[in-house]
Amino acid sequence: MPELPEVETIKNDLSKKIIDLEIKNVETDWPKLFKGPDFENHKKTIAGKKIIGVERRAKNLLIELSDNKTLLIHLKMTGHLLITDENIEIKHNKFVVDPNSPLSDPNNQFIHVVWHLTNNKKMAFSDLRKFGNISILDKEQLQEYLLRYGPEPLEDDFNYQKFACLLGKKKTGIKKFLMDQTKIAGIGNIYADEILFDAKIHPERDATDFSEEEKKALFDSIKKILKKAVELRGTSVSDFRDTEGKKGAYGDVRLVYRKTGENCPDSCDGKVKRIVVGGRGTHFCPKCQLNPPERSK
Ligand SMILES: [Zn+2]
Repeated sequence: MPELPEVETIKNDLSKKIIDLEIKNVETDWPKLFKGPDFENHKKTIAGKKIIGVERRAKNLLIELSDNKTLLIHLKMTGHLLITDENIEIKHNKFVVDPNSPLSDPNNQFIHVVWHLTNNKKMAFSDLRKFGNISILDKEQLQEYLLRYGPEPLEDDFNYQKFACLLGKKKTGIKKFLMDQTKIAGIGNIYADEILFDAKIHPERDATDFSEEEKKALFDSIKKILKKAVELRGTSVSDFRDTEGKKGAYGDVRLVYRKTGENCPDSCDGKVKRIVVGGRGTHFCPKCQLNPPERSK
């Protein structure tokens, strides 16, 4: 699933490419992606609207429109947005792209929605699993929707005091805590594993049971890993692509995520192990990231 760095990458791209353009029309072969209003009403509402800004909150993309409305896109499992001026035509109720186009990368070929913009631009939504969530919200609805999210970890006001306060409250596994969007926004499975390795903390440790030193290490790792992943334009180990259809580079320098059996990146002579935590595949070094009973040995 695209996490904070991937959604931020798309947001930064869109900010350079679609601001001040107008939405002329929209087509889909999968109307179920439209969660409110339904596709027919989405089409009526969005035609003629100008794009005035693009923001990210948690893993949501917020495309601000000229009439105080926001086009909200949650990429969910496998969604990403592509910007192109190539022709995309519908054949047999499927979008067909030119085989020479960069969009023809297999991961970009699950195009289920195209917004036609002025200047011959198209914004296409590629989504293999079709779990994406597209809606249009007015200011009040948007505010209410965003209330569910915890603080943005890369904002300056997300400081160590705030983080330590959040951590101390309820007994819960630390990986689960990091992925809980109501606690901290934007961290998912990939970056939780990366952050915990960087801080040398076992993914099953209890979030209320850390020393001051460990809390500080964890806080620093959250900022460091997420910043680095944004700079490198996200992780494309599976299907994520940027708005040109290209891969992000964080996957090339990642520490443990999906590296089962490989040597520990810190050369401790351990090997990356995969376990399941809260139903999610979890990667860590059993020698550097010890569980509490092992710590006291
Ligand atoms: Zn290690």
